[in-house]
Amino acid sequence: MSLVKSLYDASPRPLRVLYTNAYGVANIRRFRKWNRLLDSLAYTESLSREQQIRYVDQRLKEILSHAFTQVPFYARFASLAKDFHSRSAFDILRELPITSKEFINRDPEAFLAADRRNVTVSRTSGTTGTPFTIVMDKDVFLLGDALWWRRTRWAGYRPGDWIARLVGDPIVPLHEKNPRKPWIISYPDRRIYLSTFHLNPDTARSMGALLRRRKPRFLMGYPSSLEILSGYLKDSDFVMDWDLRNVLFSSEPMHPHREALVKEVFRTEIRGLYGSGEKLVSAAQCQEGTYHLSLVDGYIEGQFGIMDPVEPAAVTTLVNRAMPLIRYQIGDMIETTPDQTCSCGRTLPIMSPVITKHEDWIITPSGRRIAPSAVVWAFIHQDIADIHKGQVVQEEADLVRVYLNTDETTFARYRDVLKTSMDKVFFGEMRVEIVRTEKIEVTRAGKSRFIMNRYHGSQNP
Ligand SMILES: [Zn+2]
Repeated sequence: MSLVKSLYDASPRPLRVLYTNAYGVANIRRFRKWNRLLDSLAYTESLSREQQIRYVDQRLKEILSHAFTQVPFYARFASLAKDFHSRSAFDILRELPITSKEFINRDPEAFLAADRRNVTVSRTSGTTGTPFTIVMDKDVFLLGDALWWRRTRWAGYRPGDWIARLVGDPIVPLHEKNPRKPWIISYPDRRIYLSTFHLNPDTARSMGALLRRRKPRFLMGYPSSLEILSGYLKDSDFVMDWDLRNVLFSSEPMHPHREALVKEVFRTEIRGLYGSGEKLVSAAQCQEGTYHLSLVDGYIEGQFGIMDPVEPAAVTTLVNRAMPLIRYQIGDMIETTPDQTCSCGRTLPIMSPVITKHEDWIITPSGRRIAPSAVVWAFIHQDIADIHKGQVVQEEADLVRVYLNTDETTFARYRDVLKTSMDKVFFGEMRVEIVRTEKIEVTRAGKSRFIMNRYHGSQNP
């Protein structure tokens, strides 16, 4: 991969365009597979609650039975298999230990099925937490991608629609500091790849002009990237003058201040997608704004109201036999609402849209956890318009730095009010430093997080 990447980066732009378009041809075959798979799963979108429970109970029993005989760690629980006809899978699940990245990393081999063929290995990002390697059946990987794609189908995608992407595709080499064309267009699959890594006032302006020329039906992006692009476009001569059906986002929380800015600039609704890095569970936002769990990929404890919810959420795969993660804590706080229904007609279980990465909390020396929304409030309350150019980082047990990417004059205006406001939010327990910076740290995946906890990392309680 890194060799391919360095060859790509060393190629002149016409060759890079060619590579991307060749990839686009291959992509068309993937879309066909996704569509076939989604068509075959369409019936699961309207099952009754009883049918859903029976479906998940059956899949769980298959996975547990497989784990008991094939996965070394679960061999000691094999005697539970004799209860499969008399007890529900949910009941049996309660007797198994909660797991996590850290738990499995102590002896990863013990969690691999002895018999595994046609697998793919995926490493989740080490920049936001503990590195983790997951082995997946190839068709599980395909299912995960297809379920992500379903959100776009729900949003009204039709074959032939153009989609612009701002999601960390490394299509423009980083050694090009200020590219004239910070994008690549792939014609076979109708994709516009915008470079998340090259966002500045000039590139944003040219991206805005490109979007107006090509009129994509959808714009897909990380919330932080969409916010930065929207902020720059708002300050430019950008005019929203075509029928953009939806802005689609994933991978990060969409804070209200971000949502408001993106909607203001692109004048359309936004639809989110939630998926864990392990492809263990996913949810997509329907036209009513509700997040529906996919049901068929993983089971979250609490989603039916049968088991009590665990924090952070504990999830069991319904499909991955190569490395079946069971009662695995994915590190996100997920609130499921079993009694809620949605007027879109889909009966798929519902989860709350507020998803907070564990690392996004700031923790004071006395153990108080300060919610991201409270920190965001401290910005909004002071009417700080340049919030999209800010980042709040817990650096030490009692030190928070607030980075603002802004000019000297604006910085001088905000520094003191922001300091006062932040002191309040942290109950006077943190030293707060307001720092002017030229650049907000972007992780290797091309995301910047509004709130980062470098001190506690993924070790947060
Ligand atoms: Zn719905």
